[in-house]
Amino acid sequence: MATVHSKIKVATRIRPQLEGEQTDGGIRAVRDGPERSHIAVNNPRVPSQVFTFPFASCYDENSTQEEIFERDILPLLDAVYNGITVTVFAYGVTSSGKTHTMQGSSTQPGVTPRSMEALLQRKAVSKSSDMSIAMSYMEIYKDEVYDLLVPRDKAMKLPVRESETGEVFVANLSSEPIESMSDFDALYAQASKQRSVGATNLNRASSRSHAILVVSVTACRGPTEQALVGKLLLVDLAGSENNKHTGNDASRMAESAAINRSLSVLGQVVHALNIGASRIPYRNSKLTRILQPALGGNSLGLLICNLAPGSKFRQDTLNTLNFASRTK
Ligand code: ADP
Ligand code: MG
Repeated sequence: MATVHSKIKVATRIRPQLEGEQTDGGIRAVRDGPERSHIAVNNPRVPSQVFTFPFASCYDENSTQEEIFERDILPLLDAVYNGITVTVFAYGVTSSGKTHTMQGSSTQPGVTPRSMEALLQRKAVSKSSDMSIAMSYMEIYKDEVYDLLVPRDKAMKLPVRESETGEVFVANLSSEPIESMSDFDALYAQASKQRSVGATNLNRASSRSHAILVVSVTACRGPTEQALVGKLLLVDLAGSENNKHTGNDASRMAESAAINRSLSVLGQVVHALNIGASRIPYRNSKLTRILQPALGGNSLGLLICNLAPGSKFRQDTLNTLNFASRTK
């Protein structure tokens, strides 16, 4: 039987229980073998009943940042050096561990700093003039795109345009060269502050918008050959919680509608790519329109679905698992 190779691999990660959090231990990550694993969810009403959701990688609460990087990210970076675009998404409800997985902390750095470090190391061993690295960083909030590398008072809504050949791009998005980890850290810290300006609190700002970091890696292969440009897109998605109950404030409703639509279209796009459909519904949301050049054609991806073990997240957990299952 022919094996199907997904363009976008789907992984899940359960974060540890937080202090004061109630949990009945009803959700577990089970590894059945090197390439087989599933998430098991108990039915609290029927103790003997367990729902199983198989995924390519299931990380439990003891999994480390290093393990995830080595198993699922490092192999993708090889593709970036070879001119392929790779996108890594973190999906899940607010507080499920998306930012921990992508950004991490100073003691437990996540996918983003580890990837930057690996790319810079690669640049250091190549003749440095042969390889260059640059970053752009944008945020999508209520279907508008903002540049996170320019001060917010100057940051205007960036227009999404289409080239004559039909390629979608974000116009006027800035790009900064990266020579070292300290270059990256400084830009990233400045951009993260930028994300909170204008919002009443930081967590709300970051959970209501999609953040897309684009790392471009250009490799020159000799004076006669064309340079090879690979990209790594690191996406911390807006919280996937059910937004129906956020009140009837018009601004909040517009916010929720934009998030719900973009995440559901993202799921449809990933599924269509994974089954090799001829029509991919990129145009149905701003998020997927912007990601179209990254996801179409010669590209690879990883969708990390983050899960919170608390009992109060049970319905969110099932929603995330159903979303993740439908994208395969
Ligand atoms: P999100 O970005 O999805 O809203 P966060 O990444 O902010 O969630 O995680 C919520 C809280 O849980 C944070 O305090 C974070 O440090 C902690 N956390 C998340 N995942 C882990 C993990 N794997 N190990 C330890 N702490 C974690
Ligand atoms: Mg977050």
